[in-house]
Amino acid sequence: MNDVCNAPGLLPIETAISNMLDAISFNKHAETIPVMSSVGRILATDVQSTINVPAHDNSAMDGYALCISDGLTTYTQIGSVFAGQTFDKTLTPGQCVRIMTGAALPPGANAVVMQENATVNNDEITFTGTIEHNNNVRFAGEDIAKNSVVLKAGRKLKGVDVGLLASIGINEVNVYQTLKVAVFSTGDELIEPGNVLPAGAIYESNRAVIISELNNPNIEVIDFGIIPDDKTLIQNTFLKADEQADAVISSGGVSVGEADFTKEVLNDIGDIHFWKIAMKPGKPFAFGKLPNSYFFGLPGNPVSAAVTLERLVKPALTKLSGNEPKLTLRLKAVTTQKIKKRPGRTDFQRGIASNDENNNLVVTPVEKQGSGVLSSLSKANCLIVVPAQSGNIAQGETVEIELL
Ligand code: AMP
Ligand code: MG
Repeated sequence: MNDVCNAPGLLPIETAISNMLDAISFNKHAETIPVMSSVGRILATDVQSTINVPAHDNSAMDGYALCISDGLTTYTQIGSVFAGQTFDKTLTPGQCVRIMTGAALPPGANAVVMQENATVNNDEITFTGTIEHNNNVRFAGEDIAKNSVVLKAGRKLKGVDVGLLASIGINEVNVYQTLKVAVFSTGDELIEPGNVLPAGAIYESNRAVIISELNNPNIEVIDFGIIPDDKTLIQNTFLKADEQADAVISSGGVSVGEADFTKEVLNDIGDIHFWKIAMKPGKPFAFGKLPNSYFFGLPGNPVSAAVTLERLVKPALTKLSGNEPKLTLRLKAVTTQKIKKRPGRTDFQRGIASNDENNNLVVTPVEKQGSGVLSSLSKANCLIVVPAQSGNIAQGETVEIELL
């Protein structure tokens, strides 16, 4: 990691992300799994097609495949061919066969005319309209050519990709092993939902957000629960989590607080950087290397925890899984209200984006923007990204948003 981590003052969010990505090396092994359960997993090797798709020239229409004879309008039908069948006789000019969509084109056939343009008189078929070579013909290999690379290593497989693999006859696929992520929250004030709330305590919600947000086929969460502010307990949990996981995510105890032992423990066992990131919410954030895993320390405030998980941790986990982190798509929207902002940090304000009556994208900031107001994030469908140097933004100005 470069020196900027240790620089005084605030660390720009882009620097924090690139520092993390530079520090992370990917070393997952591959495993072979059924294609049918591969959605969301990361491909470990390129997949090449051993066949053409479609496998043969075929008809795009229900109609007649014919061997063109220039100027002729009435052709002689010599047979029929349905999808899944082949017709082996070679057509000569002036001959046609009845053909169904997807059926292989008979040898000699060089065009298909749709049945709506055909008049049948026993085996004499008269066609209207002009007939040109290759009309309504789908060619072998048009979708996927034999020997071509269909999907590249490192790709996160989506549903359609699974179909693509099926379409080239593949039923097993080589993917990287799942990422094991240990999650826990620290704080004496935290109570597990379902229990009576003592005076001064709060229900723990960060783990619920983190575990739900990480719920995908590529991640296996190991839940270590709530850990009280006790040095020995925190130390034991970090050691156990590090032993079992590729990544450890904790929330709480990375800001300056009297009863937070997280920093002390981490300094003993790992190489951890405690950053003050120039972002709001989410200023305190920790990242580094434990003996066996990478560590991400989220701030305790619920909105800060959720936003840093989304914008800082997820790209890092993406790289750790063998997939290339992508930039979050940004859109431009007109704000329907004034946005309050102090220069200094990049703001990720919670917003509700919608289309106005002219179908232009507009955004309204959610009323309460406190870093502890989790309901603001629940109401929001986007984050309004206000650059660090920016001050207040007037109603009607254009801002950038990232959809959630
Ligand atoms: P900390 O970062 O530990 O100083 O916590 C900052 C604030 O976030 C405090 O008000 C905590 O009570 C609250 N907080 C910390 N962890 C959680 C959690 N897991 N769920 C809900 N609130 C939390
Ligand atoms: Mg705490």
